[in-house]
Amino acid sequence: MGQEITASGESSAADTTFEPGCIFCSILRRAIPATVVQETERTLAFRDIAPQAPTHVLVIPRTHAYPNAAELAAGDPGLTAELLRAGAAVAAAEGLTEDGYRMVFNTGDYAGQTVYHVHLHVLGGDALGRFGTP
Ligand code: AMP
Repeated sequence: MGQEITASGESSAADTTFEPGCIFCSILRRAIPATVVQETERTLAFRDIAPQAPTHVLVIPRTHAYPNAAELAAGDPGLTAELLRAGAAVAAAEGLTEDGYRMVFNTGDYAGQTVYHVHLHVLGGDALGRFGTP
């Protein structure tokens, strides 16, 4: 499936690139089930299968084009902002806004990234532990 790129270098709303071996692409294609909580034209939010907090939602773009947040930000700033807005909307819908929540992009092996289709973790629902140490 092709990817449309606008003159500004940002991918269009119709942008959908799928990678056969990618678990998140399978979720996007509805080839495997997920508990979807919100979606926009360019993003999908669904519950993490192994939650690390009472609320743990992943927000992904509907394209496999970007493996991590840095490449997404460099390649499509508009989609980067949309992913963050979608994360904030999930947090609001899940009732996390008042007490606070965490948004995380893991990047690479040392951060424990396991799926190389960029994804935003939205975590909350209780006081979260510190992070950054092994
Ligand atoms: P990361 O470690 O940052 O790459 O995050 C990948 C996340 O995807 C992990 O938190 C996994 O629990 C989650 N995950 C993997 N497979 C699925 C799935 N089929 N449905 C929902 N979440 C998944």
